Amino acid sequence: MRLDGQRWLISAGPTFEDIDPVRFIGNRSSGKMGFAIAAEAARRGAHVVLVAGPVHLPTPEGVERVNVRSAAQMHAAVMAALPADVYVGAAAVADFSLPAATRKLKKAKGQTHLTLTLERTPDILADVAAHPARPRQVIGFAAESEDLAAYARDKLTRKGADLICANLIGQARYGFESDDNALLLVWADGQAELAPASKTALASTLLDFLQKNS
Ligand code: C5P
Repeated sequence: MRLDGQRWLISAGPTFEDIDPVRFIGNRSSGKMGFAIAAEAARRGAHVVLVAGPVHLPTPEGVERVNVRSAAQMHAAVMAALPADVYVGAAAVADFSLPAATRKLKKAKGQTHLTLTLERTPDILADVAAHPARPRQVIGFAAESEDLAAYARDKLTRKGADLICANLIGQARYGFESDDNALLLVWADGQAELAPASKTALASTLLDFLQKNS
């Protein structure tokens, strides 16, 4: 099925929250799932804006890429790219950040601890779902190490999303950094399992599902 004339907004990858000029707080997201969705949507004819955290992945053909580093920058870039027909929040956004020190933090002689005070980042997915220019479909991701369905359903209502794509982390072959994944799709009145497959194949199955239910 074609997506000509549609505008898709996709966020992918990790965010890095700087501590000082040389250190940051990051996470293990590779960006592969979000990039695969962006590639597939563009292949089907959509205009795709891909807001990418710091990853070393090539830009999929025909995709408009906006590079960001922090959660705050990703939030600003996503909001600036609205309106869109569909939003897919596949990024692993840091939940907490801190004001970066302008100079490298030095350890003092005898210092045994360092305390950093972190503050909550804005929730991009929730803000997109509550936006006056809300996309017709708002899709979030969830990476959980247990109770996948329950956490995904909670996320669905708490964030106001139409669909949560959940994946179990800690499985050897799937999830972070891997080329393969398996997803549990959770929506208001149902759920479905997408069997283990390459992230490219899963992206295609997910788009089929979204188009069928749009
Ligand atoms: O529970 P959690 O906040 O990790 O939910 C994950 C989903 O929420 C993902 O789709 C992620 O992109 C999104 N998220 C976000 N902004 C945040 C944290 C998570 O958009 N600050």
